[in-house]
Amino acid sequence: MIDVFSRDRETDNAPLFSRRSFLAKTSCFGAFYAVAKLIPLPALAAELALDSRVSQTPLVDKGFASVRKIGNGLYATISDGSKGLQTICNGGFLVGKDSALLIEGFTQPAGASFQMDALRMVSQVPVKAALDTHYHFDHSMGNSFYGANGVQLWAHAAAAKRIVDNYVPLQGADKEAVLGPAEKRIKDAKSDTERAHAQSDLNALTGLFAVANASVLGLPNHPLDPAKLPLSVDLGGMTAVLESYPGHSGTDMVVRVPEQNVVYAGDLLFSGWYPVCFDEKATVSGWRETLKKFAELDKDTLFVPGHGQICGQEGIAALREVFDDIAGQAEKMYKAGVPVEEAQHRYTVPDKFKNFPIYAWGFTIGPAITKLYSEWKAGKS
Ligand SMILES: [Zn+2]
Repeated sequence: MIDVFSRDRETDNAPLFSRRSFLAKTSCFGAFYAVAKLIPLPALAAELALDSRVSQTPLVDKGFASVRKIGNGLYATISDGSKGLQTICNGGFLVGKDSALLIEGFTQPAGASFQMDALRMVSQVPVKAALDTHYHFDHSMGNSFYGANGVQLWAHAAAAKRIVDNYVPLQGADKEAVLGPAEKRIKDAKSDTERAHAQSDLNALTGLFAVANASVLGLPNHPLDPAKLPLSVDLGGMTAVLESYPGHSGTDMVVRVPEQNVVYAGDLLFSGWYPVCFDEKATVSGWRETLKKFAELDKDTLFVPGHGQICGQEGIAALREVFDDIAGQAEKMYKAGVPVEEAQHRYTVPDKFKNFPIYAWGFTIGPAITKLYSEWKAGKS
């Protein structure tokens, strides 16, 4: 990805921020605005060290991601974006007696390939399919690995079209035309806060532009009609249940293994992160309902989130609290008549969430507030 701090060399303009002033500005908001590259992965929680399902030693660790056994025939691939961008999101695989199911296409084919290699370390059963939990680039730009290897690629029925609609226009596009509006927002910012938020958005867009242009798009070839879900998939002595829930992207699927209380949640769960809410099909009320359902699952449920570390129900509780906090602050502003353009920048990160990464303001907190405002205006909640 592009280092935004060296922009001055390309344009002869003064740098937008020196690295030091950028860090000083952002740290005073109690959070850092960074792309995946700058977000380190926390260690496995102490409670999970006592969970007999979870192996304390990874099967394999490549830095950018490691694979860990989390159940009988169940593995989680956990990414550490600070060490490489091959995967960025988490995934995993399920191994039955007859076949295996891989989860996620990741950000690069090398990420999908890494996970396939990890599967082959433990089993030689045929791969029934790989599943993209949703269409977003960090879960799908490595899909071409599956195409090249003849692996069926499953996803929500809307996912293939969303990949085409959102990422094809970036391929071969003029970079200035794509990034110009975000750069203009930095120039036009009315305050340091707005400027820092706009900068975080530019960082994220710059990364997306780079990934989209470096990738051969691979489209899911096996659409899963949400009206026909849940779908039980028999892998031989193990049943995976595929379900769809609203919230993050309009294409979200989860893989549940009821017999072992394990859920691969995709991006419906950001563990110890602020949730990414920018998608036009993301819905805050829908997402909060989904999290309520996850909270009603068994108290020993183990979750593999789309981003962040493996967690139990405490991870669901924390994300619900984050949504409560955003909604609480937004509601006060809504009732006080603060315009939405202003409100989306005025949220303050409370101390308890100060270590929760914010992928980019305009992809997380900003749109969460905008969506809450529209839901209230429409009288939905
Ligand atoms: Zn996503």
